[in-house]
Amino acid sequence: PGAIRPFLAGNWKMNVIPRSGVALAARIFDLCKGVKDVDIGLAPPFTGLSTLGDYIKPDFLRTEYGLGRNVFLLAQDTFFESKGAFTGEISAEMLASIGVDRVIIGHSDRRTNLGKYFGFGPSIAKRLSRSFLLQELEVLRTKEDADRQILAALEHLASEANQDVLTGIQRFLEEELIERAGESDEVIQKKVQASLAHGLQVILCVGENTEARETHETFNLLDRQLRPAFEVVSPRTASEVVIAYEPVWAVGEGAKPARLEQISEVHDFIRNLIMDLYGEQIASTIRILYGGNVKPDNIAEIMSIAGVDGALVGGASLKAWDFAQIIRFGL
Ligand code: PEP
Repeated sequence: PGAIRPFLAGNWKMNVIPRSGVALAARIFDLCKGVKDVDIGLAPPFTGLSTLGDYIKPDFLRTEYGLGRNVFLLAQDTFFESKGAFTGEISAEMLASIGVDRVIIGHSDRRTNLGKYFGFGPSIAKRLSRSFLLQELEVLRTKEDADRQILAALEHLASEANQDVLTGIQRFLEEELIERAGESDEVIQKKVQASLAHGLQVILCVGENTEARETHETFNLLDRQLRPAFEVVSPRTASEVVIAYEPVWAVGEGAKPARLEQISEVHDFIRNLIMDLYGEQIASTIRILYGGNVKPDNIAEIMSIAGVDGALVGGASLKAWDFAQIIRFGL
C-alpha cells in the first residue's frame, strides 16, 4: 500500500437478505481478524442497511474481531430530493439517519443496464417491425388527410428491400432509448450534491462502455462523467469523494478484468483531471478505486499499480473467503 489508505468495498447489489448479510459479514470479519490498515466497505441492498449497521458497531468489531474503525456501511444508491412524493426512493438524509457512511453513485447498473428494464427502447423497437408498419400503413392509406410524405416514408421503410434500414433504426432506437432510460450525468451530479450535503461520503462510479473503448473515446467519456459530478464538489469536500473506475465491459460475470496498463493509464488520467480541478494536494490524496472482476487471484497485481487505491468488488464480495482474500491482499 502507498501513502493512501486502501479501500476495499463490496457491492452486494440486489442479493442477500438482512439476516444473511450479517452472517456473511461475520464470516468476512472472522477471516480478516486484526486487519486495521485497510478500509472495508459493505454495500447491502437498502433492506439490509439497518441490520448490518447495528452489527458493525466499532466497539463490537474491536472486541470481537480486533478491527479498528475501518468498517463502513455503504448504500448502493440514493435519491437527490430530501423528501416528498417520490414513491420507492430513499433520500441521502434517510440514509444518514440510519448510520450509512458512504453511498455508491453512478454505478453502471444504474447508468445504463437498468435502462433495459425501465426504458421504452425495447418495446418501441419491437413495435417498429415490418408487420407493424404494414398494419399501420393499411390504416393510414384509408385516411383522406394522411400526410403524403409520411405515407411515402413509411412505405419506403416497410418495403422488403429496406429491411436492413429498418433493423438499423430498431437497433438505434433500442440503444438510444436504453442509454437515456438510465441515470444521466445530471442526475448523478444531483445525487453527489445531496449526499455530501447530508454528510455522506460518495463513491462515484465512472467508466467507459465497449463502444467508447473501441472508438478511442474513453478519456472523453470519462471527462464528461467526471467534470459535471465534481462541479458541485467544493475543494473542502473533494476528499469526501472516492472515485471508482469501472469499465463497463469489465464488470460482471463472464467479463474479463481490464489489463493492468489500461487501469494504470485511466487512473493517471483521472488523477490528472482532479489535479486540474483541485490541485496537487487533493489529487494526491483522493482515492481512486478499480472495479471489474476483481478476484483473490488478481487483487495483488491490481493493487500494485501506482495510483490504484482500492477496489470496488461485485461478485466476489458475496463470497466470504474471496472477499476476505481481497481485503487481505497485502498480507
Ligand atoms: C461492480 O458491480 O461494481 C463490479 C465491479 O462487479 P464485479 O466485481 O462482479 O465485476
